Amino acid sequence: MNTTANFQTKLKDNGMKSTAQRLHILNTLEELGHATLDKIYEESRPLFPTMSLTTIYRNINEMMEKNIIDEVKINGQKTNYEVSKKHHIHLVCKECGSIEDFSLDTSFIISRVEEQTGDSVVDSAIVMDVVCKKCKQLSSFSH
Ligand SMILES: [Zn+2]
Ligand SMILES: [Zn+2]
Repeated sequence: MNTTANFQTKLKDNGMKSTAQRLHILNTLEELGHATLDKIYEESRPLFPTMSLTTIYRNINEMMEKNIIDEVKINGQKTNYEVSKKHHIHLVCKECGSIEDFSLDTSFIISRVEEQTGDSVVDSAIVMDVVCKKCKQLSSFSH
């Protein structure tokens, strides 16, 4: 499957021009999973040396409005971004700060909340603090 072609279609479907910059941002996010604005900027330097942080930020925001990109907010970390995908929660390592996606359809939680409270859930983000496999290994070596 060609990701760039998918992103081109996605942008066009949302009435957006598929510019080289937007595609680069999307490919970077796809490759890294989650990335901060600074990280995306850093990754863009070799290919787009003249692209400013502001331009990247503006492009991200435009794509967020179309639900192509999502914001990932994690306590104590700068805002990360990711390519929008359905039904997943985030596992965040307390030791190294790595963010892992875990596929889980949370719609059952949302319907339970709505049924029991009468509220309408408009947005939800589930984050679990973990100690990741790598950090667990490291700490077992030092014992
Ligand atoms: Zn870790
Ligand atoms: Zn994610």
